[in-house]
Amino acid sequence: MTNKTPITPNARLIEVFSAIQGEGLNVGTRQIFIRFALCDLRCHFCDSAHTWDAPANCRREQSPGLRDFEIYSNPVPLATLVEWVERQNQPGLHDSISLTGGEPLLHAQFLMQFLPKVRSITGLPIYLETGGHRPEQLAMILPYLDSVGMDLKLPSTSGESHWQEHAKFLQLCYDAQLEVFVKIVISGNTYASELEQSALLVASVSPEIPVFLQPVTPLEAPVGFTQIPVLAPSPHQVLNWQALMKRFVKRVRVVPQTHKMLNQL
Ligand code: SF4
Repeated sequence: MTNKTPITPNARLIEVFSAIQGEGLNVGTRQIFIRFALCDLRCHFCDSAHTWDAPANCRREQSPGLRDFEIYSNPVPLATLVEWVERQNQPGLHDSISLTGGEPLLHAQFLMQFLPKVRSITGLPIYLETGGHRPEQLAMILPYLDSVGMDLKLPSTSGESHWQEHAKFLQLCYDAQLEVFVKIVISGNTYASELEQSALLVASVSPEIPVFLQPVTPLEAPVGFTQIPVLAPSPHQVLNWQALMKRFVKRVRVVPQTHKMLNQL
């Protein structure tokens, strides 16, 4: 017999709320967002730098879409998070649950236990938004996912370089027959050669995988960080880059962040 106390799974969160998805294949759909704390990347264009470290507190929207947040301390126990999601899940309102961040895959151990529960209770599909650079952690939760939006980080634009990890990651999603798309943030600093490399990477898995080119939303540098200019691409660049990628992959769409236009979170 052992007298070890079982460890209660918990997660460090930023917020839980209901909103309209503003990026990629699910744009315009209504989702319950679970935004996890922590990220191991430092993209130049990051609009979520507040997620990089785990704060002492997180916030939970009480009524879907009303932004009537209540503050709770981190970490949040698994049963509590299930309860928060259940409360958001009004009949017919949401299309899916979005795991976002930060990098949700830094919480893979927690997600392995949380996802089967929340999926069986809500019946909602699970959508993962990720930097696409942690295939080992993806493999741990693959059976509980329905859809994945994988970022492909261009070194010129993001300051990050993860080509091999991206290739493995995309292959895992494809082999598991998940709905998967690739999102690439582009700016005035983007090189055409990187977009060609990206298109070849996607095509090597399947030319049918949808690619979303997302012109960067210009933003100010996070407090304490040196400003690296993040300039929007010109219309001419965007037209050329879409044409370039369509030589290798079938579906290349250009979609800016629509939630910013709606003034949403
Ligand atoms: S992966 Fe996402 S959260 Fe992390 S630094 Fe890049 S843009 Fe920001």
